[in-house]
Amino acid sequence: MTSLRIKLSRCHVCNATKGRPSPTAYVFCDFCGALIDFDFQTAIGDTRSKLPGPEYERLRAALGPKLERAHARGDRDEYLSLQRQLFAAYVEACPAACSPRVGDPVYRQKYIEHSARAAMEGAFDPEMKAASERQAVAMKALQWVPGGPMGVTCRPDTFWALYDTVLDVAAVGKRMGERTGLAALAPDGDTPVNERIGLSLFVQGWLPYLKQPEVEQLLARTGLAAEYVEPTTTRDEVVPCGVCKADVHRAEGAHFCVCDGCGHLLFAEVVTPCTHCSAKLLLPAERTSFQCAFCSTELRTQAWTMKHLEGR
Ligand SMILES: [Zn+2]
Ligand SMILES: [Zn+2]
Ligand SMILES: [Zn+2]
Repeated sequence: MTSLRIKLSRCHVCNATKGRPSPTAYVFCDFCGALIDFDFQTAIGDTRSKLPGPEYERLRAALGPKLERAHARGDRDEYLSLQRQLFAAYVEACPAACSPRVGDPVYRQKYIEHSARAAMEGAFDPEMKAASERQAVAMKALQWVPGGPMGVTCRPDTFWALYDTVLDVAAVGKRMGERTGLAALAPDGDTPVNERIGLSLFVQGWLPYLKQPEVEQLLARTGLAAEYVEPTTTRDEVVPCGVCKADVHRAEGAHFCVCDGCGHLLFAEVVTPCTHCSAKLLLPAERTSFQCAFCSTELRTQAWTMKHLEGR
């Protein structure tokens, strides 16, 4: 279901306002392609399957004991390598649970690497271990009362105690990210949107177990209660994505944009004809070559698209 109104989002990189509705909860800037927001309302309306399926579960079960052994030995390299396998399988099994940008192999690689490193650093960090233990204690201490859409709701005081530990884990994670250099590896950059995504996932899971006053308070406290506005009409032209043919709205003055079809970051300053079939395309910005979506010819992207990217 697409809403006519869109979440008011402003780009922290180029200051542009989002003008077009986003098909997923991940909101990308129309002008520079940066991830600028995570729309909680779209996320909770997203009915695409988010369960990873039996193949992933088998891998997870197989790797579980190996992870435990690597952890017990203090073998960070082995632990990291196992986490890489696990996240690669996860992205493969349920892309709908991740950013649509995982369709771009360059982004996907960064995403897997960052997730695996975050899991590894977290597992070996004493401060994170303590924070996670406090969270586990708060989970065990939850008390339930009848009511709500699930038949039971959390007693508010026990829920807010859990919420405090979630904020605590996030704060510890942020410090750890800065200390270890993880923050710089984040696939969308070190942006507050990353924290919003984490909080949104927590809120999505717990909303059905809360009564209305707690729901409202939680949305206000997390900053997920958003302002929705009419889409603005920017001057744009519809050009096919060079990678997947999907219609891309190229806003006048845009430098980069994200294809909502395949997740590639596209170079939006110029429309380039395919050297073989002449179809006019937007080229992927982070690839050195790709196959034309219309004629499958292998095309090399000019080095200058990469140069522009460095200056972004
Ligand atoms: Zn921007
Ligand atoms: Zn595309
Ligand atoms: Zn072509």
